[in-house]
Amino acid sequence: MSIISTDISKAVALLNAEALVAIPTETVYGLAGNIFSEKAIASIFETKKRPFFNPLIVHIPSVDTLATVVSYIPEKAKRLADAFWPGPLTLVLPKSSRIPDIITAGKDTVAVRIPNHPMALKLLQALDFPLAAPSANPFGSISPTTAQHVNDYFKADIKMVLDGGPCQRGIESTIIGFDGEEPIIYRLGSTSIEAIENVVGSIKIKNKKEIAPDAPGMLERHYAPSTRTVLTEDISEAIAIHRDKRIGVLAFQNLTQHDAVKFQIVLSEANDLQEAASKLYDALHQLDKQNLDIIIAERFPDFGLGKSINDRLQRATVRA
Ligand code: AMP
Ligand code: MG
Repeated sequence: MSIISTDISKAVALLNAEALVAIPTETVYGLAGNIFSEKAIASIFETKKRPFFNPLIVHIPSVDTLATVVSYIPEKAKRLADAFWPGPLTLVLPKSSRIPDIITAGKDTVAVRIPNHPMALKLLQALDFPLAAPSANPFGSISPTTAQHVNDYFKADIKMVLDGGPCQRGIESTIIGFDGEEPIIYRLGSTSIEAIENVVGSIKIKNKKEIAPDAPGMLERHYAPSTRTVLTEDISEAIAIHRDKRIGVLAFQNLTQHDAVKFQIVLSEANDLQEAASKLYDALHQLDKQNLDIIIAERFPDFGLGKSINDRLQRATVRA
């Protein structure tokens, strides 16, 4: 019997019984468990093989519940929550004493967001606890954006994947922390810097060295296919260098003609960065299955979601 199902009441029952359920969100599928259940949280880390120093994001159903998980909300955090929730923006705020240390990796701050997916919201509203839900993939591998991706990764290791269709945003949430009252971007993601700056004015990006290792999404190698992947500004030039290999191409808008190219995916013929982001991980999953020697990925324009896509492609190209 398939573990893929659309039955929300079954998901509620499993989560109430301290089991894990993979859930759809607008960003990627999450592996969800009750934040107050030691058993559920331990099995999230175990199932993902996620190192314990990596804190988890707490998912809540409404802004009213925010006050139960954090102890202080800076003015600009309120404005960001008003502007982007439910949505792909995570706020890192001083934690309330109710939040277990294992959720925050011992830190005094907690990451929290309201996901914008009708099934995730229904589920959260039906539960009397928030959900921790890191991406439903083994640590370091490509994030899942369909129920099938999750099933391919975990099979019988989890009891249920709640199927909410393909994720509309396709890359993880943007994470914002605070230095006192001032917001700082910890991780690029599905909410663009430009959209954030429209709400709170100019914002700094925390540099990598300051963040690692608190942020797995900030590790140099992450979101990575097992096929060697290179990132280029010029696809033809990269093909010329690797022409004696079996090449796969991941391009933004245009198809490539070359005998060495055995498989290729164009992410958005319409030149739409959101469309490209939503298809990015599925494209990497597909390319990784083709027995290629190398994947040549095209660098995206360096603005809006293009910046976030480049960030993920960069990490996908670092070799283990
Ligand atoms: P994900 O694996 O996509 O669910 O994202 C979890 C990420 O949230 C972690 O890798 C951290 O980057 C970030 N995060 C969670 N909690 C905190 C925290 N208390 N302080 C800083 N970053 C956090
Ligand atoms: Mg992840």
